[in-house]
Amino acid sequence: NQETPAPKVPPKAPSSPPLPRQNSKTTPPSPPKVITDKSGRLQFSRVGFLGEGGFARVYEVKDGRGARLACKVVTKSSLKTKKAKTKLYAEIKIHRSLEHPNIVGFTDCFEDNDNVYMTLELCTSGSLMDMLRRRRRFSEPESRFFMVQLIGACHYMHTHQVIHRDLKLGNLFLDASMNVKVGDFGLAALIENPGERKKTICGTPNYIAPEVLFDTANGHSFEVDTWSIGVILYTLVVGRPPFQTKDVKAIYKRIRDNEYEFPTDRVISTAVQHLIQQILTPNPSERPTLHEIVDHTFFTMGPVPPFIPLSAHDGTPDFR
Ligand code: ADP
Repeated sequence: NQETPAPKVPPKAPSSPPLPRQNSKTTPPSPPKVITDKSGRLQFSRVGFLGEGGFARVYEVKDGRGARLACKVVTKSSLKTKKAKTKLYAEIKIHRSLEHPNIVGFTDCFEDNDNVYMTLELCTSGSLMDMLRRRRRFSEPESRFFMVQLIGACHYMHTHQVIHRDLKLGNLFLDASMNVKVGDFGLAALIENPGERKKTICGTPNYIAPEVLFDTANGHSFEVDTWSIGVILYTLVVGRPPFQTKDVKAIYKRIRDNEYEFPTDRVISTAVQHLIQQILTPNPSERPTLHEIVDHTFFTMGPVPPFIPLSAHDGTPDFR
């Protein structure tokens, strides 16, 4: 899996990076067909399975009025350590504090004897990763549309002192109208004091900023999301992530050396290449701000479509 998170083991040196964790867990029992909180105030019927991530399974549910939602289920048996609990509480605290049209809406959080549940806005069109697999790559007008929505959500998070730290195509969900919804706040961090730096090594290998891996003394901050936005833009227009290679160790070496190329067998505008190069600047303080990114020629040289038609799931729409 190209988008498996990197484990939180610090790489001692670029030559010994963390290796992806082995998936040895057994499948827990399904949550009940009717999910209720302890007071009985909230009730949802489980109608389908949507997917699973590192520690949660996500189901489609219907509330009492028949409205469809996603329900993220974490088994209490996976929350035995204090660290696991702290992590889940941080995810809930951060996600429920955010309200933005391009962030997966958080509605409720409750528990029963076996599980902790989070009900979320349902994203019926999968993730941008699923769509990229079908489409191979996106046109530049489509990429502008997705990027404007992503950057809007990211600007909102940053002004609310939240760093997402795991922005990647698999965490960019799409609603029924093809709007981007940033999800999975499992690695997000809240900056509580101005100038505070984070030290935990986390993210997903292809999308990790160099300072997370190689400047552990100094730590990292909001600019790690900007870096991931650069990796996302490259991946949308090229069809694969810039530092992608066969093993994680080699990916980290390429990130350290800022080693990536643009394909030469097709047209990729010089504007988008220039913007990607600016964003993928090794020194975080030299990266453009989110405002500077949306002011770049790439966003003004051609159309930003007002919406993406559903036909885009299977083929390039014609924007003129
Ligand atoms: P984890 O935090 O364990 O990585 P995720 O939040 O990434 O879990 O969710 C796992 C999977 O569940 C996703 O890859 C996606 O397929 C599905 N999913 C998650 N949230 C939603 C949602 N709001 N709407 C639809 N599907 C979702």
